[in-house]
Amino acid sequence: MVLEKLSSSLKETLSKIARAVFVDEKLINELVKDIQRALLQADVNVQLVFNFTNTIKQRITKEDTPPGLTKKEHLINIVYEELIKFLGEEQKDIKITHKPFKIMMVGLFGSGKTTTIGKLAKYFQKRGNKVCAIGLDVHRPAAPQQLKQVCDYIHVDSFIQPEEKDPIKIYNKFKKELEKYDIIFIDTAGRDALSADLIKEINDINNLIKPDERLLVISADIGQAAQKQAQAFHDACNITGVIATKMDGTAKAGGALSACAVTKSPIKFIGVGEKVDDLEQFNPKGFVGRLLGMGDIEALLEKAKEAINEEEAEDMSKKFLKGEFNLLDLYQQMEAMSKMGSLGKLMEMIPGMGQLQLPKDAIQVQEEKLKLWRYAMNSMTKEELEDPDIISAQRIDRIAKGSGVSVKDIRALLKQYSQGKKMMKMFKGKGEKGMERMLKNFKAKIPGM
Ligand code: GDP
Ligand code: MG
Repeated sequence: MVLEKLSSSLKETLSKIARAVFVDEKLINELVKDIQRALLQADVNVQLVFNFTNTIKQRITKEDTPPGLTKKEHLINIVYEELIKFLGEEQKDIKITHKPFKIMMVGLFGSGKTTTIGKLAKYFQKRGNKVCAIGLDVHRPAAPQQLKQVCDYIHVDSFIQPEEKDPIKIYNKFKKELEKYDIIFIDTAGRDALSADLIKEINDINNLIKPDERLLVISADIGQAAQKQAQAFHDACNITGVIATKMDGTAKAGGALSACAVTKSPIKFIGVGEKVDDLEQFNPKGFVGRLLGMGDIEALLEKAKEAINEEEAEDMSKKFLKGEFNLLDLYQQMEAMSKMGSLGKLMEMIPGMGQLQLPKDAIQVQEEKLKLWRYAMNSMTKEELEDPDIISAQRIDRIAKGSGVSVKDIRALLKQYSQGKKMMKMFKGKGEKGMERMLKNFKAKIPGM
């Protein structure tokens, strides 16, 4: 997960509190030291760290324990609340208030502007917007082609003119066509460092296009240096938000996030990988919850909503009730699962599961299995998918040859299917009462549900 190290030290700190017999000064001092160490290791600015722990100490000494909470719970809650404040408190959305809505990306060379356009374009496309992108990075060789490639991959229109070196001319050329879209993403050039040239270029583009959002893309691996950059870009073109990328590959992300919060430039999204779905809306509450292992039901629901649209879900539940269920449905479910991201990521978001520490390889094995099954299904005919009972030993051999999946794995898939079908049959005809009873039985078997 993002900030794994910080997360595990904070979790350890909190469980120390939970294990303690008394909340006394010694415990509090120890807690403060632990938190300081954890934050400094995540490259949070020293001054920020001290302010942060001072606030915690003050609150613990001054505040009465609220009714209904134990002193320990109160302490844990204070840490939780202050961490959220530390990271910007409220979730700041990008609201598409009118059309066309223009979103300009700015940032240094290699910070992830182009990649993030792909991610955001997909994000907004999924929410029903007609999106496009225009390439105004005229300095980096092949930058326009890269943008086009990113956009083609997600079936988003892109406007580029590789031979033209004046961004203003490029924009004016496509201006009329762009008006037909709901959202226009504007890709700009970066530099190795913030320079007068870059500022002038951004300002010129800014004055011409008047974007509704000016998003600064910052690579989280620069840690607390993000503060200087955020401030400078803020002064230069009045940015409306920050996207912190490469959160997946750095232990310094804590520094970057807290630094941006200080400049009052709200972090709106974070990039957590190179793939087009590796984008998360930044919600300080959920983020801290996950960091501390409290789970993040909100983020989970958000992802689930994306993966299975309501129509599909309704369709599926009707099939469930009728007892119809074939391999195509199973396939669809798997697709939905993979859209939701890896199982591991998902588990982290389920309250309680984060702490369960599921063996990593168990999750991997499961994911590996799903992948194989998908390959196998790709080698089946439509008839076979619709009516798997016709899949004979001979057919299994053919599918194995075609997909490169072993006969054993294909049999396992068919077994999973017939088990699923059996379940379906049990639901069938039971009506609501029967379902309720079954659910109760099910819950009784799983403690905590
Ligand atoms: P630009 O110069 O600002 O347009 O940067 P690019 O979009 O070309 O990205 C530079 C590199 O960073 C590419 O190799 C991307 O794959 C990579 N990158 C971008 N965002 C992320 C992220 O969130 N995580 C990881 N691991 N890599 C990223
Ligand atoms: Mg680029």
